[in-house]
Amino acid sequence: MSKSKVTIGQVFKTIVWPRRGLLLIGLLLIIIRSAAGLVPPWATKPFMDDILVKHNMDKLPMLLTLVVVAILIQSVTSFVLTKLLSVEAQHLISVLRSSVQKHLLRLPIRYFDNQKAGALVSRVMNDVEGVRNLVGTGLVQLVGGILTAIVSIVFLIHISPWMTLFVLLPMSIFGVITLKAFAIIRPVFRERGKITADVTGRLTETLNGMRVIKGFNAEQQEIKVFEEGVEKLFQNVKKSLTSTSFVTSSGTFLVGLASVGIMGLSGYFNLTAGDFLQFTMFMVFMVAPIVQMSNIGSQLTEAFAGLDRTEEIMNTPTEDDSTTRINKIGTIHGDIIFENVSFAYDEGKTVLNNVSFEAKPGSVIALVGTSGSGKTTIAGLAASFLNPVSGKITVDGIDLSTVSLNSYRSQLGVVLQDDFLFEGTIRENILFPRPNATEEELTNAVKASYVDEFVNRFESGLETVIGERGVKLSGGQRQRVAIARAILSDPRVLILDEATSNLDTESESYIQESLRTLMKGRTTFVIAHRLSTIRQADQILVIENGQIAERGKHDELIERKGRYFELYTYQARI
Ligand code: ADP
Repeated sequence: MSKSKVTIGQVFKTIVWPRRGLLLIGLLLIIIRSAAGLVPPWATKPFMDDILVKHNMDKLPMLLTLVVVAILIQSVTSFVLTKLLSVEAQHLISVLRSSVQKHLLRLPIRYFDNQKAGALVSRVMNDVEGVRNLVGTGLVQLVGGILTAIVSIVFLIHISPWMTLFVLLPMSIFGVITLKAFAIIRPVFRERGKITADVTGRLTETLNGMRVIKGFNAEQQEIKVFEEGVEKLFQNVKKSLTSTSFVTSSGTFLVGLASVGIMGLSGYFNLTAGDFLQFTMFMVFMVAPIVQMSNIGSQLTEAFAGLDRTEEIMNTPTEDDSTTRINKIGTIHGDIIFENVSFAYDEGKTVLNNVSFEAKPGSVIALVGTSGSGKTTIAGLAASFLNPVSGKITVDGIDLSTVSLNSYRSQLGVVLQDDFLFEGTIRENILFPRPNATEEELTNAVKASYVDEFVNRFESGLETVIGERGVKLSGGQRQRVAIARAILSDPRVLILDEATSNLDTESESYIQESLRTLMKGRTTFVIAHRLSTIRQADQILVIENGQIAERGKHDELIERKGRYFELYTYQARI
């Protein structure tokens, strides 16, 4: 995948410019705060020279009032600044998160085949965090800091141009060090997001695969992989910490050096006590923002690194390309034709080769064949999850690759091997494809799928919570919930991947019954493992090495004593 880089111009246009009003107010507040902040250092000179040295207390109340008012203004502006900008920054983070998640959901299934779920979680949740520093106080502080530094320099020059020159020299050295340090830090930050995503991704996989890990006694292996990942992250943070702390310490050292020099020079330049104090104070006020700027600089670097990775997702083309998928289809009959369809997941490695067949409206097509022969791929193509590399698939005569996915998929239903049930009540799980279905429709689906057979035994019935924190359903029960869901959604085209696991005979007969109801009147592609399903099929396609080796009905194929007969007798024996 090509690496996207976010430019300053892009960020300015999409993030900063739309918030210009708010940022301008922020800037104004920062200027007021900075100006107020300069009052106390300024006040040191009149305090020393006019009040303390001359013992003239008349001006004291006035001066103290001025300083108190300045401090008050500083506090209030700080509060308003944080409130305005930080809240806006957090709002922006949530908006960005939502748009990244929305874009993710529009990406093709193929994209997810090549990505770790945990790494994507990290992208949606962590990578957008950086913008906090762009809109939040970071950017405004940077500008405010520069302003304060400039005003302080003007004051310094006013007191003593030569001594100012002496202060600026170590500061320039500091500037060079800072720039060099950033050059080192920037790639480190880029790398950090990637490592975090990798480590999070692996951890998520570990947690999902707990049964396999424990079953193979592979805990040590996982611990080792995670430790290595965390260590890599630590080394990365250490690298950036070394650079940032070097910047801060060299800043402190150079400021100290400048102070010592000023002490020495103040005698030479005949400064009053007030001048000396005021000069020192302004110097601190000039240096502080510069040191602070180096911090903000690293924050902004981090923000850009995060946005780069976010941009990479946002630039990945979505599956529902509005320029080619222009046909919005109404209710379909479900006549699906594969015409010389070939497919490859990876270029050059053909998985399906010239597959042609017709699935008549409402008919059941059973896909049988050894594992890896291409059954799931055919089902994926019929579901529009994949697109043919050559050849064409038509739905009621319309080329599926030109059909708006929304209009097709709203008429599609899937029941997969280990179906996706989420944390929630059984009712919510069944209503999932059609949250607004009526109570009657729900009850019908529950009956037709024999979900009521076990739900009625639960105290809370359909309101029973299933999943991690609730009741654990058996394999057969989970399948029945999945079937109820599909019945409720009433699709025209159905993709069914029968579970291979053996169920007890009672569950088996309930499922057979409910599948019969489910398939009735719908064009069904079933990756079949049950003989009962296969016998019912209007057409059996025997898939071998990505091609249709045989086709026909059960009895015909048995009679032919070919590939199907072999598969069938082999299965019957076990
Ligand atoms: P079946 O469902 O019959 O077991 P599949 O359709 O899943 O077979 O797989 C057909 C071939 O495609 C296999 O050789 C498999 O290795 C390959 N394949 C399946 N999914 C992917 C994928 N996401 N990326 C690359 N190759 C794949």
